[in-house]
Amino acid sequence: MHEYSLAYGLLEALLEHLGSHPVGAHVRAVHVRKGELVILSEEALKEAWRILSEGTLLAGSELELEPVSTRISCQSCGYVGPAENLDPGEGWHVQIPLLSCPRCGGRVDVLEGKELAAVSLSVDGPLEGGPSPPSAGEQKEVREREGDTPEGQCR
Ligand SMILES: [Zn+2]
Repeated sequence: MHEYSLAYGLLEALLEHLGSHPVGAHVRAVHVRKGELVILSEEALKEAWRILSEGTLLAGSELELEPVSTRISCQSCGYVGPAENLDPGEGWHVQIPLLSCPRCGGRVDVLEGKELAAVSLSVDGPLEGGPSPPSAGEQKEVREREGDTPEGQCR
């Protein structure tokens, strides 16, 4: 399974990183940049992650995929920017980036959009520099009934 080996690659790289840079806390989520040219099933990838991470430092963590749109650079005219999407028509839920220059039609290099890489981790517990998680339980639901106020005042 394609997603299985992708998940395995991510996991191996991260475990190696964590071996030399331990976070000392439970990893809750792994943020992964996923280029739009990387064709995979998110569900299958997350499922593979769950299975493979079991028994490792990353057990119980969830993959969070962050889509990265395609950026290309043109060899002929120097265009650098997003790729134009080929719209396959009604009924398709994907857009297919066209890998030719939108300005001159020339050959392009793909700068971004092919990567699948873990970029950050969310861990439980305090971490310097990280955003503090929203504290649950602080939100009280206050419901005031306003229908009981007596209407009309006697003069
Ligand atoms: Zn061009």
